Amino acid sequence: MLEVKNLVKKFGSKNIAVNDMSFSINEGEICIILGPNGAGKSTTIKCIAGLLKFSGEINIFEHSNKSIESKKILGYVPETPSLYELLTVNEHLEFIAKAYELKDYEGYKNELLKRFDLDDKVDKVGRELSKGMQQKVSLCCALLIKPKIIMFDEPMIGLDPKAINELKKVFIELKEAGCILLISTHIIDSVEQYWDRVLIMNKGEVVKDLNKESLIHNTRTLEEIFFEATDE
Ligand code: ADP
Ligand code: MG
Repeated sequence: MLEVKNLVKKFGSKNIAVNDMSFSINEGEICIILGPNGAGKSTTIKCIAGLLKFSGEINIFEHSNKSIESKKILGYVPETPSLYELLTVNEHLEFIAKAYELKDYEGYKNELLKRFDLDDKVDKVGRELSKGMQQKVSLCCALLIKPKIIMFDEPMIGLDPKAINELKKVFIELKEAGCILLISTHIIDSVEQYWDRVLIMNKGEVVKDLNKESLIHNTRTLEEIFFEATDE
């Protein structure tokens, strides 16, 4: 499972982006981090991905997120894709396959390219791709390693409806394979039936931890709970 204990991230001495967050997510769970702009969602995800220094403890299937073991099983799709301008779509995926020492990945690679309509763009280089296409390449790169935990930061933004549909199917397939999914969003509309947990974040803290059952037995909607929890 994913365990986050007492995570604190400050930028400078005054700007506290994440203030003592603790939560854990079990295998096969889809967890949404919902929060207004600036709540600290991206910072939390970047800390888990090992891209920022932080205080506290983060464990991924019993390994510290600083260990090689954890990096091999962690996929991360950032909010803004950062592709290599001069590498082709195919070269991006081959690069990942080499870096992660993947075996027998060709079939899966082609399947991903087809699902996200990139199969006719394999020879295009990064700078020739639209923002949405870059995002899809970034997605395929993260999925190719068959991670046991995968994090998506605002994944629906910039994707066309077909890709959104495909991505939702991917979420369910990953869940069924026992993968942990952590998905950040600030759009309540995009939070549909597929989630098991919702962490509502505000000002660097988890202000509500909801599971499906607790919401079914609640008289209020997620939207109402969200606005109440994030009210200044
Ligand atoms: P969210 O993803 O929920 O919109 P972020 O995690 O991006 O929120 O930001 C949380 C807070 O941390 C904001 O106040 C933001 O301005 C601040 N912050 C994020 N990244 C940096 C950075 N690199 N330097 C300084 N402040 C930052
Ligand atoms: Mg963000």
